Amino acid sequence: MTAHLTISCEFFPPRTEQGMIKLRQTRNQLLVLNPAFFSVTFGAGGSTQEKTIETVVDIQQHSSVAAAPHLSCIGSTKENIRNLLHDYQAQGIQRIVALRGDKPSGWAGSLGEFSHANQLVSFIREETGTHFQIEVAAYPEFHPQARSPKEDLDYFKQKVDAGANSAITQYFYNPDAYFRFLDSCAQREVTIPIVPGIMPISNFEQLARFSDTCGAEIPRWLRFRLKELENDKEGLQEFGLAVVTKLCEQLLAGGAPGLHFYTLNQATLILSIAKRLGL
Ligand code: FAD
Repeated sequence: MTAHLTISCEFFPPRTEQGMIKLRQTRNQLLVLNPAFFSVTFGAGGSTQEKTIETVVDIQQHSSVAAAPHLSCIGSTKENIRNLLHDYQAQGIQRIVALRGDKPSGWAGSLGEFSHANQLVSFIREETGTHFQIEVAAYPEFHPQARSPKEDLDYFKQKVDAGANSAITQYFYNPDAYFRFLDSCAQREVTIPIVPGIMPISNFEQLARFSDTCGAEIPRWLRFRLKELENDKEGLQEFGLAVVTKLCEQLLAGGAPGLHFYTLNQATLILSIAKRLGL
């Protein structure tokens, strides 16, 4: 069942040396999943960019798994992005998750030379040819700024046509949204793999806050049950594990080409889900 599935895991760059040591342990624990890559997020216009590079280089040098830096273009210049691409190439990095990113709150700087991810994908192809395997973001429940479903899907296709090799979705808890998204992509002759992003559930308040900003829906039944378990950490985790495992089972049974885990730099829940799935 697992031989042809693409499993990947996403981390955020730790701010401290201790966080980096902990992340190495997490990475080692996740090796049993035989991941295709470990990706590392990138703060648009923010201060974590150096930490992303450090974390990516650490993975590339000390792990058997390929590192995939996220690269967001908002607020950046062609020259910055060019330099970063060539640095990554020199480090032997062959995968990139190409994003627009979001303006940090209170952002007063320039919006830079790129306004959408399709321009970044085109620029990466112009600068580095086919060197990088490029992943882009997909939104089965639509991007929060989308003006209409049709427009969002058309823009997604534009990003794919610019040269993306595969896509990773925003997390969701409603498998129908994913399958409908795949149908809409098929109608537009988008044929790249679209791997669902999986967010384990460990903390209701954090998940609710996160979901409100990124436009991921927590269905009412789920929100209500999680709220009830808010002060029962173990009960909430067990319930969350059952919900997310069932979601993954449905996605894989329906033909998802793999799973991308949003790890939040923790291995325990991901390993439990994977074990229950028989991965
Ligand atoms: P785009 O594809 O550019 O889309 C953004 C919006 O613009 C959409 O509403 C779309 O419909 C519209 N649009 C697209 N193209 C055009 C066009 N040509 N003309 C007009 N409108 C257009 N953010 C970070 O800052 N750092 C990260 O590391 C990070 N990692 C992520 C990983 C994944 C898997 C996902 C799903 C998201 C991630 N994000 C990250 C969040 C992402 O940056 C935001 O969701 C951002 O708002 C949109 O980025 P995008 O690449 O999808 O943008």
